[in-house]
Amino acid sequence: MSEVISATPDPFRKLAGFTDPNRQKLAKLGLTRLEDLVLHLPHRYEDETQLYGITEAPHDRVVVVEGLIKKSEVQIRHRRQLIAEVADKTGRLVVRFLNFYPSQQKQWQVGKSVRLIGEIKHGFFGLEMVHPRAKFSGLDAPLGNQFTPVYPTTNGLSQDTLAKLVGIALKHVLLDDTLPASIVGAYKLPPLEKSIRFLHSPPVESDLYPLTAKTHPAWKRLKFDELLAQQLTLLSNRAKRREVPAPILTSTGQLTGQLLASLPFALTPAQSRVVDEICRDLSRNVPMQRLLQGDVGSGKTIVAALAALQAVENGMQAAFMAPTELLAEQHFRKLTEWLTPMGIRIGWVSGSQKKKERETNLAAISSGEVQIAVGTHALFQDKVSFANLALLLVDEQHRFGVGQRLQLRSKGSDENRAPHQLMMSATPIPRTLAMSYFADLDVSVIDELPPGRTPIVTTLLDNRKREHLIERVGAACRPAPAGQGAQAYWVCPLIEESEALQLQTAVATHETLQAMLPDLRIGLVHGKLPPSEKQAVMRSFKDHELDILVATTVIEVGVDVPNATLMVIDHAERMGLAQLHQLRGRVGRGSKASYCTLLYQAPLGEIAQARLDLMRRSTDGFEIAREDLHIRGPGELLGNRQSGVPLLRFADLERDTDLLEIARNLAPRLLAEQPEVAAAHLERWIGNRTGLLDA
Ligand code: ADP
Ligand code: MG
Repeated sequence: MSEVISATPDPFRKLAGFTDPNRQKLAKLGLTRLEDLVLHLPHRYEDETQLYGITEAPHDRVVVVEGLIKKSEVQIRHRRQLIAEVADKTGRLVVRFLNFYPSQQKQWQVGKSVRLIGEIKHGFFGLEMVHPRAKFSGLDAPLGNQFTPVYPTTNGLSQDTLAKLVGIALKHVLLDDTLPASIVGAYKLPPLEKSIRFLHSPPVESDLYPLTAKTHPAWKRLKFDELLAQQLTLLSNRAKRREVPAPILTSTGQLTGQLLASLPFALTPAQSRVVDEICRDLSRNVPMQRLLQGDVGSGKTIVAALAALQAVENGMQAAFMAPTELLAEQHFRKLTEWLTPMGIRIGWVSGSQKKKERETNLAAISSGEVQIAVGTHALFQDKVSFANLALLLVDEQHRFGVGQRLQLRSKGSDENRAPHQLMMSATPIPRTLAMSYFADLDVSVIDELPPGRTPIVTTLLDNRKREHLIERVGAACRPAPAGQGAQAYWVCPLIEESEALQLQTAVATHETLQAMLPDLRIGLVHGKLPPSEKQAVMRSFKDHELDILVATTVIEVGVDVPNATLMVIDHAERMGLAQLHQLRGRVGRGSKASYCTLLYQAPLGEIAQARLDLMRRSTDGFEIAREDLHIRGPGELLGNRQSGVPLLRFADLERDTDLLEIARNLAPRLLAEQPEVAAAHLERWIGNRTGLLDA
């Protein structure tokens, strides 16, 4: 028995320094094996190899100085602090500790020598160092001849301790090369062991720049190995997923044909093409993993509905999940409008729904009476069980965390059958991301908008002309003949620091508009409204019982009111480009010309100006998203913020495209020809962390 229990031996065994508290902190950093510690590499380096005179040391970086303690006392200046003075033959500096232990205080005795490692700044008392590292012993020993690594760490785990633990790991882990020599040779990669040891303690004669910028060949080796591990994981997950068959959903055309015939429009060629692609996937017993991309307003919902019908035609269920309550409600209403006349039952599951209503829905979902279930993330709670789920539709997929998507996938009632998955996104995924994180997805793109849409005209307007703008919006929204009977959205500024303030601003804006335009019907919708009220306001706007809708950014995704042709975005400079594009996409959904005014608070900085100019110039979601990715990085797109663990630690998808290409070509070959090599490589890099990449 004990054999079995110890089958997973304690990775840190009885190594000195690996105390329980330290291990907990290591675990927080995702370091649970010695192998992980070895691959925990510095994110920068400090030069402690040179001793400076106090007044001669540079001020823009960490330096080492040494001197005698001339003064040491605890003072109260706003708060209790330890203040000491240290002098060498060039001059003196003040050392300050705002937090300190009594034991620390005792070390600071006048007359003692001390070595200080930190940054020197000009302070109130002249030169000063705040919270330097201090050494009181071993001062005769020569300074090292290696740069000091600075590791990513967590509260309570000091650099010194972490460096020591990494050092121990380096002694115990066998760093044999997992890559075949042919590959290492072909791409001129330095050996792994040498690279790792070098990166943990580079000799002082190395050039610091390529080390910090991660362009040094040793970094190249590590990045390559990391990217290869990622590619191998994606590929083996794909293979694993294919081991579990999916239900075959043959297209009978019965229901889909009926729906298409009842629509007031015909599908665009692009929509027809992606419907065919999806249709083909669904009719195979391999689980579909498809990403449906299409700009805002390109008509993804009807494509999703047609896919769902194919499940229903086969007597099975589909689940349609959206990231916000408002959007999910809208899908629910749209599907109800389209499909209930055909006798199909749509279920609704949301977090804010009344208990009784929810239980009714859940029961009907698990009995199979409900054929299509629509909802928010409430859909993947434990209590929800499906009778025979065949298809998962996920709208705005990047807004869900990787973990959430995993959970929903396991909702198939039958362990031996996996549901098909269709993920939808208006945010295009740039090539490098598609090649890495989404490498195992098939992609369908709706690359045209439905006909008859006139492009939205976007203008920028200084907030000082606000009153004039309100008059103009009012004039357009008055019924004919005085006005044009238009409808307008007025989107309130995003106030990230305070939701309360954001609400207050929305209420105030609503009051101002109503006071200036007393003859118009003006509604207000914001995140704090109960869902039923939100829905009621949206419905009145949709039914043209309201002329102007003042809204917070809750309307950002997917709201569909074709008659609304005017959009004002207040304090547009505060919003991200992708968000502005989504918001703007709320108009221009019908055949009438639409206008978007971006109100900004002058003066605009250079970057803000450039961003708003791009919005004015372009209505191309792909161009805008590329720009946004550039500014904000891939995290937003991947939705991995919830997972907490960065998926790639060293490689940078924008800069390391060449390495990514090589890894991508190599991975399938390695899996096919040298599976044991692939397994060893994965074991080193991923260990037990596979789940995260398993999206
Ligand atoms: P998105 O891709 O942003 O989710 P929607 O599915 O909400 O777009 O579609 C936007 C609007 O266009 C909806 O009112 C929808 O009914 C309409 N629509 C979709 N396809 C077509 C089409 N082929 N012709 C005309 N209108 C369409
Ligand atoms: Mg949509």
